[in-house]
Amino acid sequence: PKYSPQEVLSLIEQEGVQYVDLRFSDPFGQWQHLTVPAYEISEDTFESGRGFDGSSIRGWRTINESDMIAKPDPNTAFIDPFIEPKTLVMICDIYDPITGERYGRDTRYVAQKAEQYLKQTGIGDAAYFGPEAEFFIFDSVEFGTGPNYSFWRIDSEEGWWNREFTSTGYKIPFKRGYFPVPPLDKTMDIRNEMVTILSELGVTVELHHHEVATAGQAEIDIRYDSLVSQSDKLFLYKYVVRNVAAKHGKYATFMAKVLPNDNGSGMHTHFSIWKGDEPLFAGSGYAGLSETALYAIGGILKHARAIVALTNPTVNSYHRLVPGFEAPVRLAYSARNRSAAIRIPMYSQSPKAKRIEVRFPDATSNPYLAFSAILMAAIDGIENKIDPGEPFDKDIYSLPPEELEGIPQLPGSLEEAINELEKDYEFLLKGGVFTEELLQLWIEAKRAEVDRLRFTPHPLEFELYFDV
Ligand code: GLN
Ligand code: MG
Ligand code: MG
Ligand code: MG
Repeated sequence: PKYSPQEVLSLIEQEGVQYVDLRFSDPFGQWQHLTVPAYEISEDTFESGRGFDGSSIRGWRTINESDMIAKPDPNTAFIDPFIEPKTLVMICDIYDPITGERYGRDTRYVAQKAEQYLKQTGIGDAAYFGPEAEFFIFDSVEFGTGPNYSFWRIDSEEGWWNREFTSTGYKIPFKRGYFPVPPLDKTMDIRNEMVTILSELGVTVELHHHEVATAGQAEIDIRYDSLVSQSDKLFLYKYVVRNVAAKHGKYATFMAKVLPNDNGSGMHTHFSIWKGDEPLFAGSGYAGLSETALYAIGGILKHARAIVALTNPTVNSYHRLVPGFEAPVRLAYSARNRSAAIRIPMYSQSPKAKRIEVRFPDATSNPYLAFSAILMAAIDGIENKIDPGEPFDKDIYSLPPEELEGIPQLPGSLEEAINELEKDYEFLLKGGVFTEELLQLWIEAKRAEVDRLRFTPHPLEFELYFDV
């Protein structure tokens, strides 16, 4: 919905809203919120915003300069379906109270600048994103990280995970979750409920289904939308998924790799650029693509080793990007081949539906940054006419090493990805979309995660090395 501040104020009035929840993302993609009684909200809230202490938000201000302003975007208003008494939510833009300028570490600002920059280049006026964010629904999750920890233990009524015996049938074996009907599928009702709520909130869903992995792996596909708006929706999507799971006493996770012997959870991202009514990716080249689309692919493949630091930003993300689990490892594109990093969907021959599917991202990314990085790499490809090379239509997992020679790989670890980003980020700075300051913050924070894990022995190491 699109609302003016006045319309939001009348909505508060009419609906008897008692609280207004102001939300924004921290740099790492965690939605944060603060709550204001509705009687505190006036037209001025939209003009001057609401002050808050930004010093404890991870990656934001230090104590000595902690004041920040959150200005709600009235277009994002919705009534929260989970909270009592009636609460209206708005997503905010963050400002510096001293200078009155936008705060550079507000990642929604990055996405807004990326949209503007696309227009400035004259290439197009909208970039559309359609994410397929996969997740698991577990019954219980336990893990130990103390000196006495054993491992992690996950349970699901549907899966075989961590069960030596099972007294009931209708379990889904590893990699067989796509997609038998109930009673094997045990989370259809929960997915339906998620989709009903999303639809009521204006997040149009195209379909939902059980995913390939056992233990309630799921996917809900939301209709394409423009960069900022789709990123906002993805925060809402994850919020609804988690809260519906919680209502059922279950736990939803978007972590990229949870079960070592089954598929991970990705976020395939369908992407296209339009100018006015013209879909710029449709043409007469390979798989019905335009030259512009092929150059966009060229740019994304060229910079993929750097942008994965943003689209796949956890140490865990790289456990997913391995052969054999439908996740990409090689930087190739193809209309047929789902083991390639970029696939060209052939479901529809309509030029309007022409898009590319970027298959490496996962949903632990901050969508403002992930989608912006994909767009910036594509723009670089289009502006510099970067040749994507020949498509690769063979199954990459089953080829002998000789045939794979010369096809670059995605980084094998977050550390490698961070090093690549450090070497290759000029294209992200164009138009001031990303700033060096923000990228430095990102690199430092991610290195700290890498180090924490490097300093910690993994439980499996006891099996491998304890008795050596
Ligand atoms: N879960 C797979 C991945 O990690 C994708 C499976 C699918 O959508 N076909 O990307
Ligand atoms: Mg899908
Ligand atoms: Mg999927
Ligand atoms: Mg897909």
